[in-house]
Amino acid sequence: MARRPTLSPSKITCYLACPQQYYWTYVNPRGKWYLRTRSTYSFGLSLHRVLEKFYDEREQGVTTTHQALAALEENWIEAGYGSAEEMQEALGEGKAILSQYLEEIEMRPVEGKTLHVEYRLKHPMGEWDLIGRADRIVERADGAIDVFDYKSGRRDVTPEEVSTDIAMCAYAAMLRPQYLDRPIQATLIPLRGGEPATHRFTGEELDEFLFACRELGDRILNHEWAEVEPLPKAICPHCDFIKLCARDPRYAEMAAGQNLER
Ligand code: SF4
Repeated sequence: MARRPTLSPSKITCYLACPQQYYWTYVNPRGKWYLRTRSTYSFGLSLHRVLEKFYDEREQGVTTTHQALAALEENWIEAGYGSAEEMQEALGEGKAILSQYLEEIEMRPVEGKTLHVEYRLKHPMGEWDLIGRADRIVERADGAIDVFDYKSGRRDVTPEEVSTDIAMCAYAAMLRPQYLDRPIQATLIPLRGGEPATHRFTGEELDEFLFACRELGDRILNHEWAEVEPLPKAICPHCDFIKLCARDPRYAEMAAGQNLER
């Protein structure tokens, strides 16, 4: 039996940023030859791995700052850095971020119980499934179910941002059927020192999100890719596929002007 198509918040965000980028990332296998490993991705993933161990009750080996720092060294992902010096600098920065975060939660612990870490979610959306993996699910003292998401590159986050973040809305909407009698909320945690931000979703907000998400997902999965043409936009200079798109005449001037050939 054919597998049902799936869409995650990152796929949907990619499509919204640029349908052509979605095409090269997820539809045309030629795109993978142009994908670069990014140090920011390795950095964030390394920190996430340690926090997963720290909050996972089954992991007894990472319960102190000292153990967490040792776990960061063990789980450090080296890919994407330009040099050994750059990587060592990033490792030092990662240790500083982790120490500061663990010190902060020791002084101001979250009131609630961790129910899951790296929790996989799935929700049927007609012809396809919405999927995702939440960093941590916490049952708050007042009974609310809270989805935590760590932002390794951020200092500031706002409740408004939580309420419109595609991943947070998706995780909250996918969790709701399991906790129909509980308030559902989401919290973004900036690991570089700022205050966490929380938004408690109403049922209407989550229904509206699922409705819009289903429409968008149907559009993505039924897209006629032959009709998609690359359109220059602000994110192009930082995009891995600029060389592919540059073959389109509209790109020649922009690529030459910004010396984008790689
Ligand atoms: S280079 Fe620009 S148009 Fe092409 S895939 Fe990237 S973002 Fe989209």
